[in-house]
This record gives sequence, C-alpha cells and structure tokens, in this order.
Amino acid sequence: MTTEKVNCLIIGSGPAGYTAAIYASRAGLNPVLYQGAQPGGQLTITNEVDNFPGYPDGVEGPQLMNDLERQAARFGTEIRYGVVTAVDFSGYPHKAIVDDQHEITANAVIISTGAAAKWLGLPSEMRLNGRGVSACAVCDGFFFRGQDVAIVGAGDTAAEEASYLAKLCRKVYMLVRRSEMRASKFMQNRVKTLPNIEILWNTETEEVLGEEEVTGVRVKNVVTGESSVLEVSGFFVAIGHKPNTEIFKSSVALDESGYIITEKGSTRTNIPGVFACGDAQDNIYRQAVTAAGTGCMAALDAERFLALKESEHPAVDRLAEVQTL
Ligand code: NDP
Repeated sequence: MTTEKVNCLIIGSGPAGYTAAIYASRAGLNPVLYQGAQPGGQLTITNEVDNFPGYPDGVEGPQLMNDLERQAARFGTEIRYGVVTAVDFSGYPHKAIVDDQHEITANAVIISTGAAAKWLGLPSEMRLNGRGVSACAVCDGFFFRGQDVAIVGAGDTAAEEASYLAKLCRKVYMLVRRSEMRASKFMQNRVKTLPNIEILWNTETEEVLGEEEVTGVRVKNVVTGESSVLEVSGFFVAIGHKPNTEIFKSSVALDESGYIITEKGSTRTNIPGVFACGDAQDNIYRQAVTAAGTGCMAALDAERFLALKESEHPAVDRLAEVQTL
C-alpha cells in the first residue's frame, strides 16, 4: 500500500465536488479530488440542462461537468481518477483508501459522492435511458411538453414530479404498484385533483416500448392480470434515490435512508474536519445548483476548520478525549 499526506481531500466529482474544489483551491487549501466511479456524476447521463444559472441557451450535462472540471483544475485542484473504497475517521488526520491500494491522510475531507436514482431494472428501461426514459422530471420534462407521458412511483417525489409534468404535458399516467400511495396526503390530493393526471392503481411496468425512442409502455394490472399499452413518448421513473454513502456508514452519522447528517445551516458532519455536500446529504432539493451551493459551503467550512490553530482544533481535542478514555 502506498501512502500520501494531503491537506484537503474531496471525494466525488459532481457539481458539489467541483464547486468545493473551485473554492478550496482558490483559498489555497491544495485540494486533491478523486472523481469516483462515474466522473462528472449524474449529470453526465443527462441530455440538456436548462436550469443551471448562467447558461441562457441550456447546456449538455457532460459539457457542464467538463466546464466545472476545467474551472476546478484552473485554480490548481489535483483531479485524479480513482475510487475511494474505504475511510477511517476514528483518529486525526483522517484516512481514506483509494482503489484498495493507496492510503491518504487528510486534514480535512469533503464528501460529495452524490446519489443515484433507483431504476426498475428492466432492460428496455436501460436501453432507452436518455431517449425518453428519465429519472428527473424537473430536468427533462420540458422536452415532453404537449405530449403524453407516464411516471412510475407513488412517493412524494413521484407525486411532486407528476404535478410538475402535468403543467407541461397533455396527459400524465401515474403508475402505482399498490392500491394506495406512500406520498403525503397533501401531495396525494394534489395529483388526484389535477385533471390531466390519471392514476393507474395496482399497475406494474412490464416493458418500455420503442426502438430509437420511447413510443409506449406496456403495463399490467396485478389484480386482473391484464396487460395493456399506454402510448406515451416519455417514461419517468421516480421510485426513490440512494445516496452513495455505503463506505461512510460506520464512520459518519447517516439518517435512516443513508443520507449523511449535517448540522443545520452548515456542511459539518458529526466528525470534526469531515464535511458533506450535494446529494449525499440532501434528499429534498437534489438539484445541480443546490449541490453546487453546498459544495461552496463545504469548502468555506473546511477553510475555517483548517484555519484554526492546531491547539484549538476540535478534531485534536476529540482525539485527546478518545485517547484518555
Ligand atoms: P419513497 O421511498 O418515499 O417512495 C418510493 C415510491 O416508489 C414508493 O411509492 C414505492 O412503492 C415506489 N416503488 C419503489 N420501487 C418500485 C418498483 N420497483 N416499482 C414501482 N414502484 C416502486 O421515495 P421518494 O423519492 O418519493 O421520497 C424520498 C423521501 O424524500 C421521502 O421521505 C419523502 O417524503 C421525501 N420527499 C419530500 C418532498 C417534500 O417534502 N416536498 C419531496 C420529495 C421527497 P411502495 O409504496 O409500494 O413501496
């Protein structure tokens, strides 16, 4: 195992990670950023991004991430391929292992590992991803204005996204696998009262149809056993997200869904010197711009932490406490 000491380690390369890197490098923290398994994060599998401020004509997701990467590199962030496979925050400085073979110790760690949308797991859903299949109505709904679409899911996200789509689309089929919804009563009422949303209860998706792009979806009523085809050009999946926080679960406090818990109004985790930003700690907003905003906050929080005199360092105090136990 090779070893290395760095000042500020950033784990993840979505809008949160790169924004943290821009601020951290400009503040002279000499950040080293590991890109993770999907360099650029979720936006690299999105087509056009129309809601990121500063791009009046929209921007392709991969282009946006490329721009953010170049901006972070311009101020000296060391951007590396590699996946952080383990961490140890029980002592100080903090430790991380990259690709099971390189040990890094860091004075401050910024976690920006993001989240991933859950998918149904149908081969047709994967094949048509980005060609009518999407896991983000706010990102992609605009492309289906005036058209008929279907959305699967029955939680708050599905209800919220169905309402959003109803404003743009002619008709929205909401595919609910049980005879009731998990969404809050308020959100349920909203989708039930919108005239262009049709809720199909007890309905599972069998296949997304289409060669080059989505032309329909074959669904099955699990009570009657009957299959039918809905002619739609968009198929939205809103069955939840999973934060990419598996490697942190025994090191940092997570909530019951696996999101990293941060102190209100900051990016501080329960471990001094470890900060979390972006979708890894946000199950409400989940937008590129909010991820970027918290990335900025994480770099500012890390800067303040690192500026403390060593004797005032909360992490050092904590370590002393642990050692005297
Ligand atoms: P949830 O886990 O709450 O809901 C997921 C939904 O997807 C459930 O209805 C579930 O069905 C359904 N589902 C899961 N797997 C499948 C499948 N294979 N086929 C069909 N349906 C499936 O996720 P959300 O993203 O909706 O919400 C996550 C959290 O974020 C919640 O706590 C929610 O309240 C919160 N949230 C709050 C918002 C707000 O306050 N404005 C907005 C958005 C989210 P089933 O019910 O049958 O298990």
